[in-house]
Parts: sequence; C-alpha cells; structure tokens
Amino acid sequence: MSDDDPTVPVVCEDCGTDTRVSLSDLRETLDRHNENQHDGDDVAQVAPRIANELANVVAEDLDLDLDSDEDG
Ligand SMILES: [Zn+2]
Repeated sequence: MSDDDPTVPVVCEDCGTDTRVSLSDLRETLDRHNENQHDGDDVAQVAPRIANELANVVAEDLDLDLDSDEDG
C-alpha cells in the first residue's frame, strides 16, 4: 500500500468549488460530480495551473511512451 498518493486541485466554476482529490480518485470524482451536477458536462476539471504538471505525472503513472524511443 502506498500512502503517498498525490492530490490535485479540482475546480468547478459553476459551483465555485475548489477542492483537492487524490490522483487515483480524480477521474471518478470528476465524472460523478459532472454527472450529478451538470448533466454530464465537463464543468469541473483539474485546475488549469497544474494541468500541465499533472499531464506529466499521469503520463508517467500510466507509463505512456508519448515521445520516447525504446528498443523493444
Ligand atoms: Zn459543479
């Protein structure tokens, strides 16, 4: 069990919500909020200021080889 699950800020302009959720719950939290509160519209989302950083983290976390050559 890892206890250092990173959290990311999530904002919803419509609701004025500004909260943090763990990375592993991010997708479910966003989906559930948008579905319950906004009829499935993607209103709540990761705070833009860290979206880029998060993209890197997620890319690493998912082991996405977006831009790397690997001899396999
Ligand atoms: Zn909302």
